[in-house]
Amino acid sequence: MDFEFSEEHKAIREKAKRFADEEIAPYARENDALERFPSDILKKMGAQGLTGGPVPPEYGGGGLDFISDAIIFEETGRACSSVRTIISVQVSLVELSILKWGTEGQKRRYLPGLCRAEMLGAFALTEPEAGSDAGSIKTAATKKGDGYLLNGSKAWISTGGVADILIVFAKTAPEAGTRGITAFIVAKDSPGFSARGIKGKLGLRSANTAGLFFEDCFVPEEQVLGSPGDGLKIALSALDNGRYGVAAGCVGIIQACIDASIKYSKKRVQFGKPIASFQLVQDMIARMHVDLEAARLLVYRAGHLKNMGVRNTLETSVAKYFASEAAVRAAMDALQVHGGYGYSNEYPVERYLRDARVATIYEGTSQIQKLIIGENLLGIKAFA
Ligand SMILES: Cc1cc2nc3c(=O)[nH]c(=O)nc-3n(C[C@H](O)[C@H](O)[C@H](O)COP(=O)(O)OP(=O)(O)OC[C@H]3O[C@@H](n4cnc5c(N)ncnc54)[C@H](O)[C@@H]3O)c2cc1C
Repeated sequence: MDFEFSEEHKAIREKAKRFADEEIAPYARENDALERFPSDILKKMGAQGLTGGPVPPEYGGGGLDFISDAIIFEETGRACSSVRTIISVQVSLVELSILKWGTEGQKRRYLPGLCRAEMLGAFALTEPEAGSDAGSIKTAATKKGDGYLLNGSKAWISTGGVADILIVFAKTAPEAGTRGITAFIVAKDSPGFSARGIKGKLGLRSANTAGLFFEDCFVPEEQVLGSPGDGLKIALSALDNGRYGVAAGCVGIIQACIDASIKYSKKRVQFGKPIASFQLVQDMIARMHVDLEAARLLVYRAGHLKNMGVRNTLETSVAKYFASEAAVRAAMDALQVHGGYGYSNEYPVERYLRDARVATIYEGTSQIQKLIIGENLLGIKAFA
């Protein structure tokens, strides 16, 4: 077992850290307050090669291994979870799905633009009546000439209102149940497609989240991703990558909580001493550190399995469950360390808490992660 980072990992950390400190963190508070989508940041990230992840260079990607991929999410998540969410969806859910399931033509057409973030992608699985139970989606795709007509709606889709292309899951054979779901690459200007942004979210306020609507939306046959009927398989394999990005982003949130708490507790004086000298304050920071170390190792272990190309659903769910819950714990404690000042946006910890909270919900709630873990241990699926 090797706990050392390679020179390549160190170089990626250095580059991602510098970008996060100089180009993301200074704007995070204002973008959050204004619910402003960080288009400029994404363009710069793409130009610096930070949004092409493990996609091979021949398709415009970075050809990175999954540890480097996690390092980018970690450093980005340390600065701003909205930006991290956008690039997680872009790289983990959209680019890697097209890489794995796309035709040569789809890869050549979409991956270079996505990898440079000149084009944005979204992943549309959830519906108003189908969240954890993704197999029960109702959006229908019926064959029409040399394509399909999509009818239905999607809910809570990250980047959904601003994406150039969206991977949309719809039922092509409702009688076949979960085997009747197909994935489509839908262009934003497809007739019959519209999106409505959701305002007033607790966190991730500068990330775009939207409801999507399909009314006789025509999608040509060549836009099917994978084969008809493969949709749920594609969604679940994508989520193994998506959850990995969420977990790595949460490691970044915990690191940000520790950094903010150390800085504040050394400066803030009560009872004639910096609050950092009080054992109960140190207890909170020590707990954050233990969670950080554990979460980081779980993420890298899942990444190691991904690098080897072996099944990692269990390890990725363990990492996602632990890191997201730990990020919420760390943000709660970081706010506590800051006392009343932590309760306002004068300090970043209230944003860390609001942003961490969604990580226990999206890409499979903590309950669903535990059921996946249980299924892997017991061989019994507790959810259909
Ligand atoms: C900001 C944000 C961004 C998102 N981005 C995307 C996106 O890009 N693409 C996308 O497709 N979706 C996205 N989602 C949707 C997200 O994945 C769903 O919200 C999530 O899967 C949960 O579904 P739900 O909200 O319908 O909750 P429900 O499934 O209704 O769950 C409600 C509660 O019941 C619990 N529960 C449900 N089933 C079980 C069970 N069998 N056993 C025990 N407990 C259970 C859940 O854990 C939860 O606590 C996003 C959501 C948010 C909030």
